[in-house]
Amino acid sequence: MDLGIRGRRALVSASSKGLGRGVAEALAAAGVDLVLNARGQAALAATAAEITGRYGVRVLAVAGDITDAGACAEVLAAAGAVDILVTNAGGPPPGHWSDWSRDDFLRAIDANMLTPVALMQACLPGMIAQGWGRVVNITSAAVKSPIAELGLSNTARAGLTGFVAGTARQVARHGVTINNLLPGLHATDRATALDAGAAAKAGITPVEAAARRAASIPAGRYGTAAEFGAACAFLCSAHAGYIIGQNILLDGGAANATF
Ligand code: NAP
Repeated sequence: MDLGIRGRRALVSASSKGLGRGVAEALAAAGVDLVLNARGQAALAATAAEITGRYGVRVLAVAGDITDAGACAEVLAAAGAVDILVTNAGGPPPGHWSDWSRDDFLRAIDANMLTPVALMQACLPGMIAQGWGRVVNITSAAVKSPIAELGLSNTARAGLTGFVAGTARQVARHGVTINNLLPGLHATDRATALDAGAAAKAGITPVEAAARRAASIPAGRYGTAAEFGAACAFLCSAHAGYIIGQNILLDGGAANATF
């Protein structure tokens, strides 16, 4: 399917690896020019070079911590006007509700709620002015089906979800869509780190922990960054203009719910 977005320009934050990179690759395959971001310069430069080489699109790589207000402003300034915004950042660490301090909550809220809000506030006016735009926030299945040890993530992302619910309906009449994609378990570095934590807790190997977690998913496996990217690219496509303010689970059926 031609996604109808060839020649558009997208900013994808936190995109040198994992789900963000999956999104960047899928948008590049659809002919979208990219602004990529991550903290680590070397992996970011390598990803940018590989994507340019493979898809022939223009790629600008801007290193910096997207959750830092100053670095975020630099990324936005370098990006300039964009048609598509995909917000992403690292997830908070696991833990226990009794241990989290006010500072832990503030860090999580900054990273996984206020940073995507700031990115949207910066990019939406230009999209509204031109009468077309696409925003997808990478959140988490934990918004719908809480993961107790990821309570910092559950909390911060629930706030983002509330912001999107109202705002998506305010900008929709200008041809701008905002939706959230909720990943369940996907095979990325983040999942490997969480597997290692689960293994240490259960006294088993990380491979055993990953096998147990995969077996608990109806699809019987972790998702891939490529699958995630393809779903995101569709939400960014010309065909998705009537999908507004939705929270779409990509979890292999893991959330056991009728709706
Ligand atoms: P990942 O494999 O660890 O990749 C994270 C990417 O984001 C890397 O390119 C990393 O590069 C970059 N990054 C991280 N923090 C950043 C920051 N502060 N500023 C700029 N770039 C940053 O993670 P992932 O699995 O793709 O996860 C992406 C998001 O989805 C996270 O919020 C995660 O919590 C959420 N999620 C993932 C899963 C899953 O199963 N994978 C499930 C639910 C939710 P640098 O380290 O060089 O900055």
